[in-house]
Amino acid sequence: MLRYNLYINGEFVESTSGETFDSINPFHQEVVARVARGTAADIQRAIVAARKAFDEGPWPRMPREERAAMLKAISDKINERSKELVALEVADSGSTLRKAKEDIYLSARNMNYFSKLAALDLTEQIEGLSKPGFSKNMLVREPIGVVGAIIPWNFPLKMAIWKLGPALAAGNTVVLKPSELTPCTALELAKIIHEIGFPPGVVNIVPGFGEDAGAELVRNPLVDKISFTGSTAVGKRVMTMAAENLKKITLECGGKSANIVLDDADLDLAVDGAMYAIFYHQGQCCEAGTRLLLHEKIHDEFIERLVVKTKRLKLGDPGNPSTDLGPVISKKQQERILSYITKGKEQGAHLAIGGAAPSDPKLAKGFFIEPTIFTNVENKMVIAQEEIFGPVLSVIKYSSEEEAIALANDSIYGLGGGIWSKDTERAMRVAQRLRAGTVWINEWHLISEKAPFGGYRQSGIGREFGIEGLKEYTEAKHLHIDELGSREKKPWYDTVVPK
Ligand code: NAD
Repeated sequence: MLRYNLYINGEFVESTSGETFDSINPFHQEVVARVARGTAADIQRAIVAARKAFDEGPWPRMPREERAAMLKAISDKINERSKELVALEVADSGSTLRKAKEDIYLSARNMNYFSKLAALDLTEQIEGLSKPGFSKNMLVREPIGVVGAIIPWNFPLKMAIWKLGPALAAGNTVVLKPSELTPCTALELAKIIHEIGFPPGVVNIVPGFGEDAGAELVRNPLVDKISFTGSTAVGKRVMTMAAENLKKITLECGGKSANIVLDDADLDLAVDGAMYAIFYHQGQCCEAGTRLLLHEKIHDEFIERLVVKTKRLKLGDPGNPSTDLGPVISKKQQERILSYITKGKEQGAHLAIGGAAPSDPKLAKGFFIEPTIFTNVENKMVIAQEEIFGPVLSVIKYSSEEEAIALANDSIYGLGGGIWSKDTERAMRVAQRLRAGTVWINEWHLISEKAPFGGYRQSGIGREFGIEGLKEYTEAKHLHIDELGSREKKPWYDTVVPK
């Protein structure tokens, strides 16, 4: 069993209360690690350290190239330790081996990208305002200060990188609270950061629970910005708490993304694409294609093929390379998913496949759910409106492009969306009308660090990735430099100032 302490002010320390919690392997429920439990008091210590590192330490004022080199070192060390990190992610989060390998590879690649952003000078001349002999006007991007980052359990290391990367690249200091369900790889990241020799207090990683550690991070007035990824319900609470001292916030929340198959789609491709969209990581992806909208002309054939292929999916030990679906994260989550399946049946949807925990005794200790497909779903049903966050697909039949667009947009969410068609121009027409932050044509799940990612509506506020994402961690300062020189030339001369 592994043991982890909190990482505060450049030191690995026990929690103030001395309490710990266990992180459990969702495949067999054995303890992966005993972790110091950060409470509000520990978060306060971390915030004080981050505040001092921002106000007095070298980090925000360090030459950009030096900051960039330190972020690049994180990326390199993740690559060096990738095998071990992959194994830990599998054990702690139930990610399949294939998914965990991709996560660790992308964590390093994403951090490498952020290191390049760190080297950029974002200062701009304000065109149309700067005038020689009158003034020079600059837009200067400055770090916001202390960032509180709160992340979920579905992509543990990747989410930590998505927060730390841009926040540090912009010159902020950070207190990161990983999910209580998957703290391990974030705490390995703390070791990497420590080895590289970041100035104390620049990065603090404090595992703990939401209501306690998380809420303190959001409420504390010494924190300037909260960057939250998690459910929409908690996102709303975060926003309310952050409002107390008008903190800057970005929220990356839930989704109920519509996957539209047009009647001219390549069915072989679209069937595989629909499976990938919903079943990747057991459906525990914010941008999962959870609502499958099928044109009536292709509906029956599509479902037939989809069910046949879904039957072939292999549930099992996530560490086995041939496993397609591992367990979901926790008993609570398993029960929640099963309760949604019950609601789907009660509201009249037809269960085409799955719908239960598997009966295989070899899987009995894991939190498994069979890949589940409901047909005859109406968009107003609970299983089409609420985020289930499990391997449960809701299939809705439509008869016209207009109807498909209306159904796709009839949701409180707006994170992802997709269209499958052989006619790219037609698909583009539909894509432009979807109220979602990312829309794929003949693809799914492809998120690039170079393109903004985030949600419309209740899927979030703000964007991650790209220059847009970096700017979320900066304040925009207008710097006006006078070039008029003498007081007589000033526009205000002769107004309120006596001659
Ligand atoms: P969650 O909202 O339950 O928890 C997220 C984080 O918030 C955890 O670290 C938790 O400890 C913390 N938290 C809980 N209550 C809190 C409180 N009162 N104050 C402060 N912090 C609190 O979400 P989850 O179950 O960990 O993750 C799944 C959710 O995350 C899904 O809704 C999914 O769509 C969303 N998600 C969104 C994105 C995105 O980029 N949009 C990415 C991944 C996951």
